[in-house]
Amino acid sequence: METVAYKCLNCGGPMQYNAKKLKFYCEYCRSDFTEEELKANFGELDENLDKNEAVSEDVQPQDVPEGFEDFASNTVMYSCESCGAEIIADKTTAATFCVYCHNPVVISNRLTGAFKPAKVIPFMISEEDAQQRFFDFCRKKHFLPKDFISGAQLENMRGVYYPYWMVDSLKDGNLYATAKQIRTWEAGDERFTETKTFKVMRAGKIDFRDYPYPALTGEHSKALKYVNPYDDKDFKKFTMAYLSGFLAEKRDTERKDVQADVDKELKEYSEKIYKDTIKGYDSVHVDSVSVKTLKENWQYAMMPVWMMNFNYNGKDYLYAMNGQTGKNYGELPIDMGKLAIFGVLLFVIITVLCGLGGYFLL
Ligand SMILES: [Zn+2]
Ligand SMILES: [Zn+2]
Repeated sequence: METVAYKCLNCGGPMQYNAKKLKFYCEYCRSDFTEEELKANFGELDENLDKNEAVSEDVQPQDVPEGFEDFASNTVMYSCESCGAEIIADKTTAATFCVYCHNPVVISNRLTGAFKPAKVIPFMISEEDAQQRFFDFCRKKHFLPKDFISGAQLENMRGVYYPYWMVDSLKDGNLYATAKQIRTWEAGDERFTETKTFKVMRAGKIDFRDYPYPALTGEHSKALKYVNPYDDKDFKKFTMAYLSGFLAEKRDTERKDVQADVDKELKEYSEKIYKDTIKGYDSVHVDSVSVKTLKENWQYAMMPVWMMNFNYNGKDYLYAMNGQTGKNYGELPIDMGKLAIFGVLLFVIITVLCGLGGYFLL
């Protein structure tokens, strides 16, 4: 297993991508470099790595102790380029930190050949900024337990590059609907209702660009869907150097595994687009939709997410934030005590209001 470390041009220290400066930064001598400056020194950053077309992941630790077979089949060992320590990583980990010297480690052969992403959106929101946004998010939750937000929680915040499929799809389709206009009026003692029924048809091409779909299965994929969408203006050609200083996961799905889901979502999306153009009726009922794909292109991309997993009173919670736009999603604990007080207050207010109402009605 190969790892790669990006060394500072001044002092040789490990470099990380810095979301505040939008540059590569050395914490040791505090110098920073642009991607162009790195390229001027190292050449195309991933050039040598691209030659590893075949990706084999069949290295297994020998002599697995009893009871650890499952652990062994889901983990692989790497050695840190800075201190030489052995690092254990999950099967889908593509970038991590050395637990001993805390230097960034990029596991290069996880992202080569068929697993090389085409593009990446680098982190645009720094860690401090992400923490501040988390505070603001919590402040709006009135029933959050008081002791919930602490420094210890914030230490759980991790910047992770997640694998996505980016789908460009040109659709051609049509929608048939029955729409109604209803008019009522009164004349003398009679009440009249007139219903006009229309057959409505919409047809046209829809060009979807960079439709994001998570390329990783498991518990985090739900959160990934909530932090969509990303803005395609910040896409960069992928280089592993962006992963330095963050965690990264490689994809564990193939296009064929998720094609049906993407087709279904884009069909629903198309239906909504056609339907939203039908205006001026009192009701619209969709009779049929047909959408076919004229052209489709899938690319593999890495997208930034600030992720926080935490345990509160024995239950697991998850918070995720789009590392480019700041859009967030969170499952947070609720203080049942506070909720009960609120319930009682509401009851008292309603009772008082009813009492007053009763008084005035007398
Ligand atoms: Zn340096
Ligand atoms: Zn190390």
